[in-house]
Amino acid sequence: MKVQLGDIQNASTWLDTGDSPLIIAGPCSAENEMQVLEIAEKLASQNRVHLMRAGIWKPRTRPNSFEGVGSKGLNWLIRAEREFGISPIVEVVNKDHVKEALDAGIRHFWIGARTTVNPFLVEELASALEESNAPVFVKNPMNPDLELWIGALERFAAHGLNKLVAVHRGFNTYQDHVYRNSPNWEIPIELKTRYPNLDIIVDPSHIGGRKELLHSIAQKAFDLGFDGLMLETHPSPEHALSDPKQQIPLAEFSEFLGSLEIKAEHFEDSVTQSQLRRLRVLIDEID
Ligand code: PEP
Ligand code: MN
Repeated sequence: MKVQLGDIQNASTWLDTGDSPLIIAGPCSAENEMQVLEIAEKLASQNRVHLMRAGIWKPRTRPNSFEGVGSKGLNWLIRAEREFGISPIVEVVNKDHVKEALDAGIRHFWIGARTTVNPFLVEELASALEESNAPVFVKNPMNPDLELWIGALERFAAHGLNKLVAVHRGFNTYQDHVYRNSPNWEIPIELKTRYPNLDIIVDPSHIGGRKELLHSIAQKAFDLGFDGLMLETHPSPEHALSDPKQQIPLAEFSEFLGSLEIKAEHFEDSVTQSQLRRLRVLIDEID
């Protein structure tokens, strides 16, 4: 049954987040079974992480980069879930990925920025996922186009998928020398304003592109009243096969999360303080 974007179910109704922000963490890519198990054990012991991310099929900008371990990595994630109780979430780009992941027992999916730009792929994924009614986390498209982002969310909703979360991972711009992907906060703010019910989480790793920026981006996400974070973490980021500069060392992850200040009003319905902060960002952008 078709659902409207305004009727999307809040993540707290289908993921046990309680009063806490939704936190997804894990490596950019699953690299080997030991790495997956080590990360899962650590994240599970923290009780603040709801889902473990790990790229299995990696859409890369240039060929000859590490393109993921492929479907064998799904079994590592399922083993990690069985042993440590942390549910995995993977990126899917086409219907074959969806089938393999569902068959392996994966129940949470994210759509990458390079996929959200393509309505045909989004349609293919929405129809492949329809029967599962799995939660789908939809990253913004590479380019700063709110309508394209909303369009992708609507395509999933049109296939009856009502457990949707938007993921803000920044936008590709040629001139930004600070961020890997410019945050353009006004765009996710506009999305939140149009669909207050829709959870939006922020991905500081892909916005920042380097470790030094992660804390301030994550704090800003909470200050603006967004609903959670997706963060990359790796036991030894400098040896990571993808995105080595932007992953939090696993040993520092707990301290990183603990150092973020979560404003109480974040969880109120009439989010007055965070609405004010959002308005200030919009005014700054206009100035
Ligand atoms: C990722 O999450 O590792 C990834 C490739 O992200 P994005 O689609 O945001 O570039
Ligand atoms: Mn990555």
